[in-house]
Amino acid sequence: MPVCYIAFGSNVGNRLDHITQAIDLLKRLGKIRKISTVYTSKPWGRTDQPEFLNGVLEFETELDPIKLLNVLKEIEQACGRKPRERWGAREVDLDILLYENYILMLSFLRVPHLHLLERDFFLFPLLELNPELEHPLLGKKLKEYSHSLENHLKPFACLLPS
Ligand code: AMP
Repeated sequence: MPVCYIAFGSNVGNRLDHITQAIDLLKRLGKIRKISTVYTSKPWGRTDQPEFLNGVLEFETELDPIKLLNVLKEIEQACGRKPRERWGAREVDLDILLYENYILMLSFLRVPHLHLLERDFFLFPLLELNPELEHPLLGKKLKEYSHSLENHLKPFACLLPS
């Protein structure tokens, strides 16, 4: 079954509750193999907002990337996400970081995620789950990019995959 990596984040209300609710909904659609440490991280893009909780999970699913994206959007809604400005506060945010070694350059879906190498809360939890991953587009190990990225993450919680 295809394996993908999904980033999760929340900075509104009970952040850990939002994240666990989203993960519980994901479990109905495939197998969660691993979950990284949940970290606190500095807001990215817009810095005048509450601190985020972020992490990444390894997910096995039969859903293709486009169906998966639609399902992630539905889960965000089900977890109470309200429409807000770009890069603003959110109850829960789910992003596809990698899907097998696929390269997708669609207007509404970029895989690998466009900001994978720029965001500490994407790259470091991803490497925690699998330090040998390669960037499908750049053909190099992801860990080679981690040296040029500052890590502001602080461990907050551990969640069990099952
Ligand atoms: P966000 O505000 O982070 O939820 O993302 C807004 C939009 O980014 C979504 O509506 C998606 O269509 C688009 N998008 C592009 N690439 C991705 C990706 N790899 N994972 C999730 N969303 C993506």
